[in-house]
Amino acid sequence: MQLRKRVLVTGGAGFLGSHLCERLIAAGNDVLCVDNYFTGTKDNIGALLTNPHFEAMRQDVTFPLYVEVDEIFNLACPASPIHYQFDPVATTKTSVHGAINMLGLAKRVKAKIMQASTSEVYGDPIEHPQTESYRGNVNPIGPRACYDEGKRCAETLFFDYHRQHRVRIKVARIFNTYGPRMHPNDGRVVSNFVLQALRGQPITLYGSGSQTRAFCYVDDLIEGFLRLMGTGDDFTGPVNLGNPVEIPVKELAERIIKLTGSSSTLVYKPLPQDDPTQRCPDITLAKSKLGWEPTVPLETGLKRTIDYFRAFV
Ligand code: NAD
Ligand code: UDP
Repeated sequence: MQLRKRVLVTGGAGFLGSHLCERLIAAGNDVLCVDNYFTGTKDNIGALLTNPHFEAMRQDVTFPLYVEVDEIFNLACPASPIHYQFDPVATTKTSVHGAINMLGLAKRVKAKIMQASTSEVYGDPIEHPQTESYRGNVNPIGPRACYDEGKRCAETLFFDYHRQHRVRIKVARIFNTYGPRMHPNDGRVVSNFVLQALRGQPITLYGSGSQTRAFCYVDDLIEGFLRLMGTGDDFTGPVNLGNPVEIPVKELAERIIKLTGSSSTLVYKPLPQDDPTQRCPDITLAKSKLGWEPTVPLETGLKRTIDYFRAFV
């Protein structure tokens, strides 16, 4: 008799995936982590590898996967611009073929499946803050398109499998999330600024630093994932998961300098093409359907992240 839920986490050795695997194991599930270790590492899941209820499998989601599971969290995809632009064709394949393979698996074994979608589906948004009904402003041929359009197509596939094959789907649109186990070289703003501050190097502001983002601490986000997966079959999303406290990137730099006591100065670099000028989630839907909102203030989350990155200096 099966007592534990069997949960598949694709991209489980990555930043978000490794935190999710930990929470799922702590909650008494059997967890299968599938990852090709493109940006994830075995170190991220090191503490779980000896747990008999945890299994790590090296596999690329662009190839079919035959396993028996009850739930699937589909996180496999490089998430930082540096990594997803390294091999843009592979990025689109990961999102699109990965979604087809995981949805096909969900259909065959009748599993519930959650897609890690992204605020990037809104592109450089004209509506602000972004609600789920906003259809976005994405450049389909720019350097970010492999990621943005790949994720948009994955959402399309999720809803078509739901309508056509009655697959039970959940779509989370994740906004900028940070915390321990972010990849130290992924070029994302929090990891870059924290490492630069700890090393006493200049803090690289792209553009004027007036572009805004809203930063969610990883523990809050994972709680959102679990609540979303726990909703009834009538709720599919898409639902925004993110912290609605918006700040300019320059202010983030100043706060990190203060928290680290760093002597770093600010240097200005060119703004990358298609870099969104503003981004902030409207989380009204998440509050009403999931009873969810972030609880970790930016300062608390940054302190924990800074402590994690001290080992890399
Ligand atoms: P990450 O790069 O740390 O994790 C992605 C994981 O997927 C890595 O372990 C990587 O090795 C694995 N992977 C990549 N391609 C694969 C493939 N073809 N087959 C199997 N595994 C593969 O990134 P993350 O920040 O943990 O993001 C996880 C998911 O959440 C991604 O789908 C990302 O698009 C989404 N997301 C993250 C954020 C954020 O702020 N962190 C924001 C929006 C969306
Ligand atoms: N950014 C920056 N300096 C850096 C890294 C990023 O000013 O060293 C800016 C980047 O141009 C963007 C914001 O910070 O406006 C967030 O960048 P990130 O790559 O973390 O995520 P995304 O652009 O996908 O939100």
